[in-house]
Amino acid sequence: MNLLRLLLIAAAGWLIWRLIHQVRAQLGQRPPQEPEAFQKMARCARCGTYLPANSLNSQGQCGRCSE
Ligand SMILES: [Zn+2]
Repeated sequence: MNLLRLLLIAAAGWLIWRLIHQVRAQLGQRPPQEPEAFQKMARCARCGTYLPANSLNSQGQCGRCSE
């Protein structure tokens, strides 16, 4: 009888442990916050047009002015 009780306690403990892990996994599946969508703007050194900073060349000019 003692052995049966021990098995029941072990089974209950295992169930609780599994439940905690499932809840933790669900909480961990939340998607991380997305980075901000807008790009940093910069001004062309020659014509003064505002463009995304990564579309200017190393001298700070837009594609049209650097041609
Ligand atoms: Zn330009």
